[in-house]
Amino acid sequence: MAFGKMRDFMRQELNSIKEAGLWKEERVIVSRQGPEVELKDGRKVLNFCANNYLGLAGQQWLVDEAKKVLEKYGYGMSSVRFICGTQEIHKELERKIADFLGKDDAILFAACMDANGGVFEPIFGPEDAILTDRLNHASIIDGIRLTKAKRFIYKHMDMDDLEEKLKEAQSARFRIIVSDGVFSMDGDIAKVDKMCELGEKYDALVMVDDSHATGFLGKTGRGSPEYRGCLDKVDLITSTLGKALGGASGGFIAGHQELIDIYRQRSRPYLFSNTLPPVVVGTAIAVFNKLSETTQLRDRLMENTKYFRNKMSEAGFDIIPGEHPIVPIMLGKFPNDAKLSQDMAADLLDEGIYVVGFYYPVVPRGESRIRVQISAAHTKEMLDRAINAFIKVGKKYGVV
Ligand SMILES: *Cc1c(COP(=O)(O)O)cnc(C)c1O
Repeated sequence: MAFGKMRDFMRQELNSIKEAGLWKEERVIVSRQGPEVELKDGRKVLNFCANNYLGLAGQQWLVDEAKKVLEKYGYGMSSVRFICGTQEIHKELERKIADFLGKDDAILFAACMDANGGVFEPIFGPEDAILTDRLNHASIIDGIRLTKAKRFIYKHMDMDDLEEKLKEAQSARFRIIVSDGVFSMDGDIAKVDKMCELGEKYDALVMVDDSHATGFLGKTGRGSPEYRGCLDKVDLITSTLGKALGGASGGFIAGHQELIDIYRQRSRPYLFSNTLPPVVVGTAIAVFNKLSETTQLRDRLMENTKYFRNKMSEAGFDIIPGEHPIVPIMLGKFPNDAKLSQDMAADLLDEGIYVVGFYYPVVPRGESRIRVQISAAHTKEMLDRAINAFIKVGKKYGVV
């Protein structure tokens, strides 16, 4: 049997993943997603590792909205968009997203992974240049790989290096600068304003993937371009419905009309994959309506974030400064930091706090950390419980 040979090989591969300490376990949750979740082993823990920034995932009012949509528009469409998979709500959501971000139009994908897989290939060829941050998300890297465009990888958030690369790329037909709006390991926010300045100077479009920003970053939650004061200057925004915006699934591209029109004709993940389910689309409309009405949720998220960051700093933890609800607790200056990150996360879970420790090669060597993600749904009491647990566990390991 052909698989016999492959089985041996795969077993070795699986072992080497385990030996390298890179094995990913899935922890099974038996409740809804939320600030508190119940694990399969019966433990109820506070969740500090979801991308549930606005706290919408699992909320009853969204479930109620979803039920109404499900009842009216049904479960599935059994079609791609351009055959018979476009309902009025798909058009309405695309309009809402475009209006929310101040762009001409928007186009939905099954996920942001797909949006990034379909954003470059239809418009960039061998005569073009793509300038990409070294730490950009895997989906951007894969999307660029699908093109024959020339790739220029600039040092992480290094605008001088970007400028050098832009100079090198001047002979290309079209150029585009591409960055995550927020980088998920450090919570650092791209210098989108500077990217736009350089884009103007060197005739390059600017694209950000705002998956960790749409809905809450910036005064009214329009994301990293709003935070940097250049929302009108960014050409393309990709993002996900699977994080702050209810957390189900779905992605989109928002931008200039002509580009969105081209994507509808040529973007392969859009053309050759099923339409988003009505229940996700209709419920996402309710989310955008809510976010257009009030900044209450993002304001609470920012207050929670500030409170947690301040208290943790006061307690003596080494955290990467910033304003993003991704709060990395750095452990690199302690011996055996990789193991420390895992031991601390395990102890924190025993204290009822669900967080994840990251270490090399997911983050650079000597930069092991526990990544905390704050939500608008965390109460002050929950934040205090997490802070106190961190202090208790931190003392045990001599971290504070
Ligand atoms: C999470 C994430 C994605 C993937 O989004 P999905 O909708 O889950 O596919 C893409 N880009 C960035 C920057 C992300 O953080």
